[in-house]
Amino acid sequence: MTEILPGVFLLDPANPELRHATNVVLLRDAKGGGYTLLDTGLPKGMVPRDMVSEVEQFCRAQKGSLSDIHRILITHLHLDHTGNLKALQERTGAKVYAHWMEAAFIANSPVYKGPGMLPQEPVRITETLRDGDALDAFDGLVAYHTPGHTPGHLSFYAPTRRILFTGDAVMRQDGPLTVSAPQYTFSQQMAALSLRRLATLDVESVVTYHGEPILKDGKQHLKTASEQAYGGKYEN
Ligand SMILES: [Zn+2]
Repeated sequence: MTEILPGVFLLDPANPELRHATNVVLLRDAKGGGYTLLDTGLPKGMVPRDMVSEVEQFCRAQKGSLSDIHRILITHLHLDHTGNLKALQERTGAKVYAHWMEAAFIANSPVYKGPGMLPQEPVRITETLRDGDALDAFDGLVAYHTPGHTPGHLSFYAPTRRILFTGDAVMRQDGPLTVSAPQYTFSQQMAALSLRRLATLDVESVVTYHGEPILKDGKQHLKTASEQAYGGKYEN
């Protein structure tokens, strides 16, 4: 576990080569003495890691238990984000949040017809979010509807900390931030538009789900990626 910024913890896989392949993040809540989990990783069996026990170990290291996870925020339906959702929901008793559209797809009602790996087992999500909803998690989070990668994709912004948790609205491999590849993306055009919106936010740190986090000058990195997604500069 690495605290990349105060109160922002990344779960580190046993195999360091998998570091930043999927950044499952835990956030220390300013109020209520608990934690908020952001996305849940691929299921055990598909990867050489067991996210449920990693989260449990994290809680133990903080001298607590799994019931300290008060909320689970899901950015979108893809299996690498929802793979351990059911198990973690059951083990933690946390409230689970997703965009209302994505919540329907995660419940397989209707079954999602789009690219990317689908959830293996339906999960009913009762806490549905809309664009602009504020959450009393971490130091205050605002849900941003960032469609493109999937129709109901959410990013989460912490305005007082100037940190953006992007899910797959934007990602990294080794180099700069980019939108996701077309084979995993519902609408490349919408993804570029969502990124253009994110690039207007006052952001210092960008925590992507895939790739190493960017801790400084996030806004400039987002702007560059957004221009790249459009194939050049644009009028804001
Ligand atoms: Zn995805």
